[in-house]
Amino acid sequence: MHTCPYCGYPNNDEAVYCSQCGRRLDAFSPNGLPAPNQTAKKADGKADLASVSSIVLGIVGLIFDGFSFFAEGLWSLFIIGLICGVLGLCCAIRNKLYKQKGYGMAGFVLSLLATIGGVIMTLLFVLGLILVFA
Ligand SMILES: [Zn+2]
Repeated sequence: MHTCPYCGYPNNDEAVYCSQCGRRLDAFSPNGLPAPNQTAKKADGKADLASVSSIVLGIVGLIFDGFSFFAEGLWSLFIIGLICGVLGLCCAIRNKLYKQKGYGMAGFVLSLLATIGGVIMTLLFVLGLILVFA
């Protein structure tokens, strides 16, 4: 028996379309859950929690990197920028956001930029220390 995931009508095993509502039955696996490739397609380009987190962390990281670079006296903010960037990047890599399009990719790129900005500011900071104390 092949129960229709839309209307619950019990169709034959060979049925491709539901004889009650006419929808395609093989779009779903027999246990009623969406087939794995469908789940993957759904995640693609959608704003899930991981994408949003890495986008927010990336943007916040970039803002702090920018403050650190441009605002006089706020240079120490590069630490926050770097931390946000690395957290966002970890989130993006852990959830394989770089394999996605749209929000996932945006989160990965923003976090990567924030991390690179944070690293550059760290290097500038270290260089500054060396110049001051040399
Ligand atoms: Zn049906």
